[in-house]
Amino acid sequence: MKTQVCIVGGGPAGVILAYQLVKNGIEVSLLEAQKDFDRNFRGDTIHFKSMELLHDLGLSDGIFSLPHHTMAQLGVEFDGETINFIDFSRQNTRFKFVTLVDQALFLQHVIDQLKDESNFKLMMQTQGRDLMWEDGKVVGIHTRTAGVEDMIRADLVVGCDGRNSRIRKQADFEFTETSNKIEVLWFRLPRKASDATIQLAGGFAGGRTPIVILERHDHFQIGLIVPEKGYRQLRNEGLEQLHERIIEGVPAFADRVDTLDDWNKIAFLSVAGGRVKQWWRDGLLLIGDAAHVMTPLGGVGINYAIEDAIVAANELVPALKGNGVETRHLAKIQAQRDRPIRIIQSIQGNAQRRIITPGLLNDEPFSFPPFMRILPNVPVLRDLPSKFIGGGFSRVRVKTV
Ligand SMILES: Cc1cc2nc3c(=O)[nH]c(=O)nc-3n(C[C@H](O)[C@H](O)[C@H](O)COP(=O)(O)OP(=O)(O)OC[C@H]3O[C@@H](n4cnc5c(N)ncnc54)[C@H](O)[C@@H]3O)c2cc1C
Repeated sequence: MKTQVCIVGGGPAGVILAYQLVKNGIEVSLLEAQKDFDRNFRGDTIHFKSMELLHDLGLSDGIFSLPHHTMAQLGVEFDGETINFIDFSRQNTRFKFVTLVDQALFLQHVIDQLKDESNFKLMMQTQGRDLMWEDGKVVGIHTRTAGVEDMIRADLVVGCDGRNSRIRKQADFEFTETSNKIEVLWFRLPRKASDATIQLAGGFAGGRTPIVILERHDHFQIGLIVPEKGYRQLRNEGLEQLHERIIEGVPAFADRVDTLDDWNKIAFLSVAGGRVKQWWRDGLLLIGDAAHVMTPLGGVGINYAIEDAIVAANELVPALKGNGVETRHLAKIQAQRDRPIRIIQSIQGNAQRRIITPGLLNDEPFSFPPFMRILPNVPVLRDLPSKFIGGGFSRVRVKTV
């Protein structure tokens, strides 16, 4: 089989890149290893800058027609006191909030817009395996669908296969870690009609263990952050100890922690940020977490993946319609993304090293870093966290080609 672009991985990076290439007349095959988009929890926060970009792609109305939730403020709660250190309502955008939408529904919705396009081939349950090389150039990829081996020749292969990217390992990209490891336990707790008071407390709660609470329409998605090897320790201590930690952070959850009655209901991830030095080889590009692994801090990874995809499409469409993709086009994509990625990874790495990990190792109740107490009261400074978390550090625009 032959195609113009073979995208490996149907996360936010791969799906948005596929959308923009296909809508601009490029022939695309998208390989996704899983049988559907309902993969392990990978976050569901779409910030205002991404929503503006999705609006420009004609996708925002459809996203708002899916079950979703919006939050204008994100607070940190400690000892019953809440500080809203992020307030999107003062930002200069039509979307003055963060949108929480189930990632599986979001990805499926984008894919649904491509189902009638003859230049698009979606291959679910298909793994991208070994890259095909000719004279130092990537010319395609071997695939495996339900045990059946095949191959796809392509003018360009794009690795969008996430944090453990096989493509990254295959092409020997130099990878550097940018943060130390933390461990995250993800699970759901039911949301009740009487929960209005928790509504703004999407952020950390008090206690020894930081708890991220994200509201979904019928449940809370909870992230419990523990130090490296903390998951193993919690498992040894048992579920009751885990329940206690949750209640210590959020006493209001005492009436429902017992729904967490099996470790199978808890997804576990060891998380460290990092990035490759060079995002490309001749005939091959990495974007999204494959190029730069994002940690959950700030809930921004999906958003950087979407921006990568749009910048990549802006460069690739004219090249593919013209004389073909050369390494200079790929280098230009990385050049536009390098700075914002470095900045956000440095913020994530520092927050993890200086605030989260020392706090976790103390095993004492978390306290606010003093600047977080001051920040919301200083007019010049108070909008900076919302501006940079919601708007990012770059001026990505959708170019209509
Ligand atoms: C616990 C956790 C919570 C997070 N929470 C948030 C959040 O709230 N908000 C946020 O913005 N970011 C969050 N992030 C970060 C975010 O998940 C990532 O930055 C983002 O998903 C990157 O998108 P991607 O498309 O590059 O990769 P992914 O979303 O990881 O998608 C990669 C895809 O490739 C597929 N794949 C892998 N290998 C192959 C192969 N060989 N062949 C074919 N397909 C393959 C996978 O099945 C997957 O579908 C979180 C991350 C973690 C770990």
